Amino acid sequence: MDDSLCVDCGLCEKTCAFHGDYDKSLNLEKPLAYAARHKNPGEIAASQSGAAFVALSDVILSRGGVVYGAGYTGHFRVVHKKAATKAERDGFRGSKYVQSDMNTVFRQVREDLKNGSLVLFSGTPCQTAGLASFVGKRLRDRLFLMDIVCHG
Ligand SMILES: Cc1cc2nc3c(=O)[nH]c(=O)nc-3n(C[C@H](O)[C@H](O)[C@H](O)COP(=O)(O)OP(=O)(O)OC[C@H]3O[C@@H](n4cnc5c(N)ncnc54)[C@H](O)[C@@H]3O)c2cc1C
Repeated sequence: MDDSLCVDCGLCEKTCAFHGDYDKSLNLEKPLAYAARHKNPGEIAASQSGAAFVALSDVILSRGGVVYGAGYTGHFRVVHKKAATKAERDGFRGSKYVQSDMNTVFRQVREDLKNGSLVLFSGTPCQTAGLASFVGKRLRDRLFLMDIVCHG
């Protein structure tokens, strides 16, 4: 964060996934677990693992929604960005083993939700938990969160 721009509102600490009081309202007491992989072997070959990300993001795109994920910009710089087409979304395929720069993505997601868009956000567990907390309950029903199993 940029200290020179900070207005001391405290929102970053309140929404941070490493803060004990972040929003856990959607945590299920007994989570349902499914194993899945894409039906098309070509999609699996083009993804990191079973291409579940592609299958689920295809549904969001087909309904006119947008997808956020980790892609490259410039020379090996990893950033989170938005995709409204399959071609843009394909840039998020494959695991990038560095921390992505979130830039202003949380605010962009909130704007999209306010404008009535369906949004799928994919990222690490701490990124998705932070976003859920930031967005708040009122806008949550159009926000789909997909977090990777993150060893780090
Ligand atoms: C840092 C890291 C550690 C991981 N550790 C494990 C592990 O220990 N065990 C395990 O089973 N799986 C781990 N994974 C997950 C695994 O590598 C696959 O990303 C996951 O199974 C999704 O596969 P897919 O074929 O559905 O996704 P793909 O279709 O290949 O799409 C890639 C997805 O990963 C997201 N992503 C890629 N890089 C990053 C990043 N740097 N930060 C945030 N999101 C990112 C994209 O937004 C997209 O949603 C890890 C992934 C990352 C990025």
